[in-house]
Amino acid sequence: MIAVSALTFAYADQPPVFEALSWHVETGDAWAVLGPSGCGKTTLLYLLAGLLEPTEGSIRIGGQELDGPRPRTGLILQDYGLLPWATARRNVELGIEIRRFYGPDGKHAPVEETAVNGPARVSYWLERLTLQPHADKYPGQLSGGQRQRVAIARTLALEPDLLLMDEPFSSLDAPTRESLQTLTHKLRREARLTTIIVTHSIEEAAILGQKIVILGRPPNRKPTIVENPEAGRPDYRHQSTYFRMIKRLRRYLEPLQ
Ligand code: ADP
Ligand code: MG
Repeated sequence: MIAVSALTFAYADQPPVFEALSWHVETGDAWAVLGPSGCGKTTLLYLLAGLLEPTEGSIRIGGQELDGPRPRTGLILQDYGLLPWATARRNVELGIEIRRFYGPDGKHAPVEETAVNGPARVSYWLERLTLQPHADKYPGQLSGGQRQRVAIARTLALEPDLLLMDEPFSSLDAPTRESLQTLTHKLRREARLTTIIVTHSIEEAAILGQKIVILGRPPNRKPTIVENPEAGRPDYRHQSTYFRMIKRLRRYLEPLQ
């Protein structure tokens, strides 16, 4: 699904964050990108989202070279990106309305299909994320977990095939975080979504990433990749394999801090 080939990226007048980095992501994969602050996780996500352009090399998604944001890529940022003046329901609707206005190519071809299914889709996703009781509240009246669920509903209502998330659950309390992590796996499996979740949390990477790429201090050339196939099993959090995985990831990360 994603082919990153010999990617080099540097911010203006800065040393490179990535240098000749290659990476493959298959459709339906659940990836976590793990690394300490400043290693380039957000930069990698922005490159995959088409918001930053490689300095050298290329990124192909679904066989097409990326040259800007791609409509079927859903991006959820750290601060949820909700509009404070719109209710939860409006926030979810607005995503679809903007898509309808610009069309799926990100330009301006109106899509009848979205116009017809829009309201039903909004209701479906509000229901799915148990937001119906909060649909008429504004972001300021919602808890962090509810806000994050609105952001997820808004993104999934656009039916993405690729979901990029930047430290999505880091500011939530542990029970909320754990239930959203479980939900993320469930939604990914249902929709055959490819997910790439950036985190500095070892535990979160172990729970969410069936494959984990570990970034270190820039420039990142050949990051370590760790297979974690049991992630997503309902009881994984309580298994000894999970605790061993955490130990293993910690050993990789310690020299990078
Ligand atoms: P992470 O998300 O892993 O904390 P970032 O991708 O935000 O790391 O940053 C990687 C490196 O690039 C850091 O050294 C950071 O200071 C630098 N950086 C991030 N954004 C910019 C920018 N807009 N201009 C210049 N340097 C940046
Ligand atoms: Mg970041």
